[in-house]
Amino acid sequence: MSDKNVKEIGDLIKIISKLPGLGPKSAKRIVLKLINNREELIKPLAKNLAQVYKNIIRCNNCGNLKSTNSNCVCSSKQHDQICVVENIADMWAIESTGIYKGHYHILGGTLPSYENKSLENGLLIDSLINRVKKDSVKEVILATSASVEGETTSHYISDSLKNLNVKITRLAKGVPVGGEIEFLDDGTLFSAFKNRKTVTTD
Ligand SMILES: [Zn+2]
Repeated sequence: MSDKNVKEIGDLIKIISKLPGLGPKSAKRIVLKLINNREELIKPLAKNLAQVYKNIIRCNNCGNLKSTNSNCVCSSKQHDQICVVENIADMWAIESTGIYKGHYHILGGTLPSYENKSLENGLLIDSLINRVKKDSVKEVILATSASVEGETTSHYISDSLKNLNVKITRLAKGVPVGGEIEFLDDGTLFSAFKNRKTVTTD
């Protein structure tokens, strides 16, 4: 098989090699595996991708992924705790430790600086405030990364929530400086979560 002679194959290899952890070599292996299993792999994969493309959107209330065919998890029953993370990979990392079973709020990034709050555009901060008010949330757990942007975002959120009679906690300092939640090992993340500290605002 020469990927240079067949345009469709070359194009597919190019797309697949853009996926995380894959380079051109492994992309070629994957494409070959697919082509050799047309019915078992290509067909269901194409169908699945089309469904995900058509039906999966980001919830504009909590930032999680949801299907247009069903209600988002955030609209289900009351919840006492909301864990605020930067992105979905961070949520998955916390979920995999098993320490937290509550709801999440996915910001979709961080604030670049405290002064330039206009840049919160696109970050789901207003909807977080609304959720805390509407759902009578008792604790907001800030699990943004230990980077400058993560800390800035965390300060900004605690400021925004300070008059709402909600307990605000932040992951313990076990998280290394600059540490992105997604890349922490389960043990570190587990203890940072367990030993989270109450944030005091003045
Ligand atoms: Zn939602």
